[in-house]
Amino acid sequence: MPQTIVVKIGTSSVTQPQTASLAIANIAALAETLTELRMQEMRVILVSSGATGVGCERLNLKERPRTISLNQAVAAVGQGRLIRIYDDLFSTLRQPIAQVLLTRQELIQRTSYVNIYNTFQSLLDLGVIPIVNENDTVAVEELNFGDNDTMSALVASLVEADYLFLLTDVDRLYSADPRENPEAQPIKKVVTREELEELQSKAGKSGSQWGTGGMVTKLDAARIATGAGVKTIITNGRRPQDIHQILAGEPIGTQFEAQPRGENARKRWIAYSLVPVGKLYLDDGAVKAIRDRGKSLLAAGITKVEGDFQAGEAVALCDTEGKEIARGLVSYSSSELQQIQGYQSQEIPTILGYATAETVVHRDDMVSVL
Ligand code: GLU
Repeated sequence: MPQTIVVKIGTSSVTQPQTASLAIANIAALAETLTELRMQEMRVILVSSGATGVGCERLNLKERPRTISLNQAVAAVGQGRLIRIYDDLFSTLRQPIAQVLLTRQELIQRTSYVNIYNTFQSLLDLGVIPIVNENDTVAVEELNFGDNDTMSALVASLVEADYLFLLTDVDRLYSADPRENPEAQPIKKVVTREELEELQSKAGKSGSQWGTGGMVTKLDAARIATGAGVKTIITNGRRPQDIHQILAGEPIGTQFEAQPRGENARKRWIAYSLVPVGKLYLDDGAVKAIRDRGKSLLAAGITKVEGDFQAGEAVALCDTEGKEIARGLVSYSSSELQQIQGYQSQEIPTILGYATAETVVHRDDMVSVL
């Protein structure tokens, strides 16, 4: 089975930091590296940022626009330019590419999610390198990914990739800011979930180099991807050719070991792609039944309903403290749940005046939070 590799490159690596002009030599090195991987029969997806940065440069703007509509307009200008550069470079190397623009909404919708999966498979079967970006021009603010870290992890999970490379402007992660703390240790390997969670909690604290949004979202991407069975590597975007050495086993960058790819594809979609639109608070009995015995959620175990949602949407299932223990697709709307919370299943038809699902969240539609 050929290996599948997702590579995400940030704006800081496709443009020059000071001027925002295109970092041509770097993009060319990336195109060469990815073409070489294709020549070794690997399946390759590139997730590239840079639409807004390149748009600014083309329109001679000195900074990123502050309004949403202007940002979306500038991204539309830059995306065409960006893909043109990639097409020129990859075509010179006789490597076909495709442009794939996604929004979070399409990854939330089950039918479009499955569609995207099929399209990626067809492109990879054709030997094409899909070049993915968020469709910034149409993405709605509440749901946009912003940077592409999370999106690249979702794509890696979707296609069941073997590797996710997050190319960025640092060589690897450090235990503290190396500019301020001479004791800062490079982090070469992150093996367990606990180690990753510890890094995430440090990253949340301000005053460390982890405090930058960049590292927070990269660790989040690493959590999603490794949870989906994808080995994840944070490494320097100025040396794309390092990907070869990393694949050969060299300890370059920060490498996160993949966790076993346990859940099936649909459950991964529930766990990572969906954005919960409500919260159900459960009593201790229901928490235990779900967490320890993998049971479905019944109305009797619900103590409080938060949010305004329809049947079929995603909700977070929380313990009495509000800590999310699982998430899943709910069979009732929030207004129905307000009426039936705390009641036995057989009482539901009398309360609502009609009979629907026996469970509020069926175990097949539920995943424990990873
Ligand atoms: N989709 C955005 C772009 O291409 C990502 C911006 C970024 O994170 O650098 O401009």
